[in-house]
Amino acid sequence: MGDKRTIEERLSENGVSRREFLKYCGLLTAVLGLPHTAVPRVAAAILKKRRPSVVWLHFAECTGCTEAFLRTTYPWASDIILDIISLDYHQTIMAAAGLQAEAILEKTVTENKGNFMAIVEGAIPTRDSGVYGRSGGRTFLEIGRKVLIDSKPVAVICLGSCASFGGLQAAAPNPTGAKSVGEALGVKTINVSGCPPNAVNIVAVMVHYLLLGRLPALDEYDRPLFAYGKTVHDQCPRRSHFENEEFVLAFGDEGAMKGWCLRLVGCKGPETFNNCPTVRFNDGASWPVEAGHPCIGCAEPNFWDTLSPFYEAE
Ligand code: SF4
Ligand code: SF4
Repeated sequence: MGDKRTIEERLSENGVSRREFLKYCGLLTAVLGLPHTAVPRVAAAILKKRRPSVVWLHFAECTGCTEAFLRTTYPWASDIILDIISLDYHQTIMAAAGLQAEAILEKTVTENKGNFMAIVEGAIPTRDSGVYGRSGGRTFLEIGRKVLIDSKPVAVICLGSCASFGGLQAAAPNPTGAKSVGEALGVKTINVSGCPPNAVNIVAVMVHYLLLGRLPALDEYDRPLFAYGKTVHDQCPRRSHFENEEFVLAFGDEGAMKGWCLRLVGCKGPETFNNCPTVRFNDGASWPVEAGHPCIGCAEPNFWDTLSPFYEAE
């Protein structure tokens, strides 16, 4: 916000070589399912710097998705996204606060009506006219109607399972009547689900838009197919142990030490669509199942209710 340096200048000042930048572009290219020959086009799309205006809203959530995004292992990846877009409103990282921040939101959606993107974190409480979720004197329902309906964004991208599906806020008994953004407002959303989602996937959605001028194909839950097209189970390196019926029966047992399948200690990989096994976390170092923890199904609708208890087999 307000930084006039080019992406190349920012990367260079952060000690990021062109080689490292192209390596990251290679990761994005693979995530999008494009051939390796597309890497230069992906890099060019990022460096082209078209800067669509983006408003990033926080509703009922823990800000974990923002944290996951800003604390990516590639510390400069967030710089890239903050440079290829014009992030005009984001409560967590913007300098303005209070009435000044609200004035910026109003100005941004008025001046860019019909020509901005919205990223949303968090569910929307709907019970009692939405009184259980408020910011700047307005309910989340009122903010959502103003920004996500009346101001006609070109896309509403839900970041994380709370915005996508309601998440923990909507888990039983759901005292605030929390709902997903799409359900609460009746708007079409692109759901980059997960608790938290992998930051690479939200960057890939943006790059897809910059590269091809359109948003990616979606699955039945409006998740990008490039990231949610296969189950965790179908991509899992422990899969051969599942087929051979070699199961961990208790954490720390012999099977656990041998890296066997975690299904009988609760793994929800067969029910869960996400690209964690291939994209992984922490610079591709590992991912939960590889580290010995069952998948808890965090990218699926209503996983707190339908896929728990997390450490028990069905
Ligand atoms: S550990 Fe989970 S995801 Fe991997 S093979 Fe076993 S059940 Fe499937
Ligand atoms: S392995 Fe499962 S629970 Fe863990 S982040 Fe991936 S989808 Fe979510």
